[in-house]
Amino acid sequence: MLISEGIVIRERPVGEQDKFIDILTKESGVVEVSVKGARKSASKSGSATQLFAYSRFCLDMRGGRLYYNSAEPIHIFYDLRSSLTKLSLASYFAEVVGDCIHPEAQSADVLRLFLNCLHFLENGKRSEAMLKAVFELRLMSEIGFMPDIIMCRGCGAFEPEELFFCIDGGGFYCSDCYEDEEDDLAMKVKKPVLLAVRHIVLTELRRTFNFRISDETMSVLSELAERYMLCRLERGYRTLDFYKSIAGAKEEDNADTQISE
Ligand SMILES: [Zn+2]
Repeated sequence: MLISEGIVIRERPVGEQDKFIDILTKESGVVEVSVKGARKSASKSGSATQLFAYSRFCLDMRGGRLYYNSAEPIHIFYDLRSSLTKLSLASYFAEVVGDCIHPEAQSADVLRLFLNCLHFLENGKRSEAMLKAVFELRLMSEIGFMPDIIMCRGCGAFEPEELFFCIDGGGFYCSDCYEDEEDDLAMKVKKPVLLAVRHIVLTELRRTFNFRISDETMSVLSELAERYMLCRLERGYRTLDFYKSIAGAKEEDNADTQISE
């Protein structure tokens, strides 16, 4: 029997009564598990195998496949369901992790990152924009794509006031060294964005979420983090498109309310 802590990042029905779940585990990456009888009304697997349930799982290995045996729920993240934007942002995090983290991968730090993001998303103590940027940049660092943000690649300047971040290469040039004005994969940003990226990728995980930046810096950081991640992973995500469509609609709703007041 295999015992592991993990969180359910995907579930899909099989036949009349069963389902498969993907679990992001601490020691074994993302694993697929068959849950027999999960969809019967008196199912014993219950809340521990639903989406975003964080549990201590006991699994059986038979014929090269993992089967759910039992589980002890640790945290169910039930309150994520109170907000469509929160739920869809969490679904985006889950889709990306399911795509990047393979079975047998060392995944303890990715699991901690994922749990921290969901924790702050659920309690609302960090903005969705911050959580999304931290998730994207930190996940890239954990899987070997840490951006090279120590110094200008041309002259070694450590903290230029203005710089060009290379979305495809992950490094930066100060404005004196940057030459190719045609390069649309370079983003012109100011120093606070550089400092925020450094904080996110270099600080120990428990302090990663402790920083404050202006709304303007956050908006540039958000664009940079998303573009960098999508460029590295060379694909798009259906859940990201959905999140952006409803997060955008929510902003418009708020704007309308202000006008009518
Ligand atoms: Zn330079």
